[in-house]
Amino acid sequence: MAVNFNKNQDNLVPAIIQDKRTKTVLMLGYMNHDALEQTMKSGKVTFYSRSKKRLWTKGEESGNFLIVEDIQEDCDRDTLLIRVTPVGPTCHLGTDTCWGHDNETTYGFLTELEEIIRFRQKNATGEQSYVASLFEKGINKIAQKVGEEAIEVVIEAKDADDGRFLNESADLLFHFLILLRARGFSLESVAEVLEARHKAVT
Ligand code: AMP
Ligand code: ZN
Ligand code: ZN
Ligand code: ZN
Repeated sequence: MAVNFNKNQDNLVPAIIQDKRTKTVLMLGYMNHDALEQTMKSGKVTFYSRSKKRLWTKGEESGNFLIVEDIQEDCDRDTLLIRVTPVGPTCHLGTDTCWGHDNETTYGFLTELEEIIRFRQKNATGEQSYVASLFEKGINKIAQKVGEEAIEVVIEAKDADDGRFLNESADLLFHFLILLRARGFSLESVAEVLEARHKAVT
């Protein structure tokens, strides 16, 4: 690795620490040549601490090490992105990240959609919103809609038309999110079950 440590005349480069699984940025630290070398050798993130003025292996007191998964330099080799598996909370204040609030897994737009569905459930009437009207009709009706959309996906799966298949898949996912919400759950609840199963076999 040919990292340019001298960009800021201090022999340090910033290292962005990202959780490999959740993609959340956990913290930022600085590394000099020795810190990077030790990080690569030990497999545990080691910074140069500007306050301690020495190498600092994150977790050396707390045991909350950052296990290195991979290290990448940026385009001009003056910043590192280190993907890790954190052993415990990364911040010494006890949160998963140094930006406070705990690490919530997000599924991009699907998470936004879950929030919209929750908002409609609480703040809209059936006359104003299709989602609210489903909640008003109750869980049996919602479950029935999921069943219908699932059948439509099955029908379109046999067909060569990608557009229709994707549209019915979107209908299914949308109504499934509403069903999860009606039962007080979210995508994350389902992902946790899948993850536990996965861990049971590996
Ligand atoms: P640790 O490296 O987790 O054993 O923590 C040792 C000390 O390093 C703590 O008492 C803090 O002073 C400091 N420290 C730990 N984690 C962080 C962090 N994420 N950001 C800044 N300082 C930290
Ligand atoms: Zn750069
Ligand atoms: Zn912190
Ligand atoms: Zn449909």
